Amino acid sequence: MTMTRAGRFLVAVTIAAAVTPMSNPSAQSPLAPQAPRAAQPPQATQTVQATAEASERWETAFRALPEAARIRAYDERMSARPHHVGSPYDKDNAEWILARFKEWGWDATIERFDVLFPTPKVRLLEMVTPTRFVAKLDEPALAVDPTSTQKAEQLPTYNAYSTDGDVTAPLVYVNYGRPADYDELERLGISVKGAIVIARYGASWRGIKPKVAAEHGAVGCLIYSDPKDDGYFGGEVFPEGPMRGKDGVQRGSVADMPVYPGDPLTPGVGATPGATRLARADAKTITRIPVLPISYGDAQPLLVALGGSLAPPAWRGALAITYRTGPGPATVHLKLAFNWDIAPLYDVIAKIPGSTYPDEWIIRGNHHDAWVNGAGDPTSGMSAELEEARALGELRKQGWQPKRTIVYAAWDGEEPGLLGSTEWVETHAAELEAHAAVYINTDANGRGYLDMSGSHTLEPFINGVARAVEDPEAHISAWARLQAATIARGTPEERAEARTRGDLRIDALGSGSDFTPFLQHSGVATLNLGYGGEDDSGNYHSIYDDFYHYTHFADTDFAYGRLAAQTVGTAVIRLADADLLPFDFTRLADTVRGYVGEVQALLKKRQDEVGERNRQIEDGVFAATRDPRRPLVAPAIEAMPPALNFAPLENASAALTAAAGRYQKALAAATARLGAITAGGGNTAPNAAGSIAAMRAVNAKLMQSERQLLDPAGLPNREWYRHLLYAPGFYTGYDVKTLPGVREGIEQRKYAEADAEIARAAKMLDRETALVDAAAAELARISPIAK
Ligand SMILES: [Zn+2]
Repeated sequence: MTMTRAGRFLVAVTIAAAVTPMSNPSAQSPLAPQAPRAAQPPQATQTVQATAEASERWETAFRALPEAARIRAYDERMSARPHHVGSPYDKDNAEWILARFKEWGWDATIERFDVLFPTPKVRLLEMVTPTRFVAKLDEPALAVDPTSTQKAEQLPTYNAYSTDGDVTAPLVYVNYGRPADYDELERLGISVKGAIVIARYGASWRGIKPKVAAEHGAVGCLIYSDPKDDGYFGGEVFPEGPMRGKDGVQRGSVADMPVYPGDPLTPGVGATPGATRLARADAKTITRIPVLPISYGDAQPLLVALGGSLAPPAWRGALAITYRTGPGPATVHLKLAFNWDIAPLYDVIAKIPGSTYPDEWIIRGNHHDAWVNGAGDPTSGMSAELEEARALGELRKQGWQPKRTIVYAAWDGEEPGLLGSTEWVETHAAELEAHAAVYINTDANGRGYLDMSGSHTLEPFINGVARAVEDPEAHISAWARLQAATIARGTPEERAEARTRGDLRIDALGSGSDFTPFLQHSGVATLNLGYGGEDDSGNYHSIYDDFYHYTHFADTDFAYGRLAAQTVGTAVIRLADADLLPFDFTRLADTVRGYVGEVQALLKKRQDEVGERNRQIEDGVFAATRDPRRPLVAPAIEAMPPALNFAPLENASAALTAAAGRYQKALAAATARLGAITAGGGNTAPNAAGSIAAMRAVNAKLMQSERQLLDPAGLPNREWYRHLLYAPGFYTGYDVKTLPGVREGIEQRKYAEADAEIARAAKMLDRETALVDAAAAELARISPIAK
């Protein structure tokens, strides 16, 4: 179907008088024609014709270019051999990607960093009592799956940045190993002090499990994949179906990334050859206890041998066993030792210079390293990015020149801990501060619905992009399909909003991919995009995430790879060519207002819970309902959470809402003065009008808008994370905490800290309000220039 678009207008922009070499020293040629060949040529008076029609023609032309067959070929090529950090094929892929960018006309280079990357030297897990069992710790090759046989190049199953250790201790089952699971164990009267815990994968990020276990005194940690979470409970197992089989293991990093991502030895600075490095013993993100991931084939004999309490109903998985907590009688011996090597990272960085606003950068990235072959994670996403890059190169041959500079990145070392992106961001911090307008991230791509997450200033923009691309199966826009899914599956409130709000809400970002350093360390407005939801699988971070699996069970014909390339490429073209960056502050203010309400409700809920529990304790309810055969430990009286003064936050939120309204008015007035404005294909900002210098002045403010949400002091106990609106949860890992200082202060019962964080968050919003007003003032200076 054809996407309908708002008006089409012709706008005359004269730049000759407005742009002096002084005001734009780095622009190679501000007088160069920006219009496509099909549009009117520049006149002798150095007036440039920029048209909404032209920009729409370019993006329409772009969307016809990506080909599923090429994406398939890239995916097959890059996943042909294991390509983890430090492996020969990781470097080979980086060089191959570099050659492709160059072939397609990009100015491309490889940036190398040297990072700590441990690989296993010793892995031993055995049960020593009550019976003896030695864990296999191996994913077997399957005859039907050709790359699963590449044993010599595969990384063994392990968790990167586990510390070395040799421990023998009774085993305790801790469900998902979240803080709340330990609260339940405490009620059951079970301590993990001196024990080895076994947690199942899921519900929190894996690195949280050993961290919380160590906080509770455990000496070792096993993490297994229960079939309820990604095995036979959810469908046929591989190779008959996509789910994880008995021997499948999820590798993965357990570095304490909520403290800081990137190379554990170089927090805050790039891991360049001359960088000062911490001693390994001083690296805060390496685990305190040894941790090893295992299959359910290896976990089942251990779980069967547990005695002790019956596990609470919600803790029971899909194994045909009675789940018990222990401790013991199973005692296990876990011995791990690693090669603590420094390994090279190869980031591929490719650029197209901007013609009009070369100092404003649109950055886009996906990682190229995998745990093993990684045909899904990451090469399905990397392949789509490459096809975008080819199509953009093709568009340039046809005469297109982006107004802004476009930077495409293929990151290395994402899997061990966002290494390539973090080290690059830390190395280029000053340039990003000055030039970065927007970062767009993708990772593994699949079949299904568009996931739109990121900075809420970009919510209307990305909704507009989603309306412009067509789902290959339903033949409606990706936006309409997502709207239908929200109506079909959402809560009554979500359903009502999806029908009437106009734009679908985007999710806030926590962590789990390369957007983190851009958004949460450097304050670059960010989007994370991808398709998925119709391709359940259980091959995550295993040797079976490969081309055979992907082409049998995921986006088998790469139709959604093509759609991903069309979607992200459209977003890049619009961001690169819109004369005013399409930032919207009303949606940001609306979202912030919601968060302020949430943290107030959270405190109220905590007060209600504590009040009710204290009352039950005082009334003897726990004593009266105690089953002597299954005794529970009564909880202790807890101090009532105090009232907190949310007024500074409420006032700052209201002020931001008012400023956002003023900006919208200034935008509308500028639009009216210029008389000719396009909606930019769903973009709420003008696409072209007035002088380039005036536009640049507004953009300079807009580019700094996300930076205002940072505080250089960072979050409590994790100063690397500087964003006061979005952060990964300290105890969730990937899941976002919005207004993190305030929210986690309340959750962690640090009420004085929460109080101080309210004041800090209010100041952060006040900075944003001042910025929005300054941007509106610059908008007021935009005036029409006669032809
Ligand atoms: Zn990935």
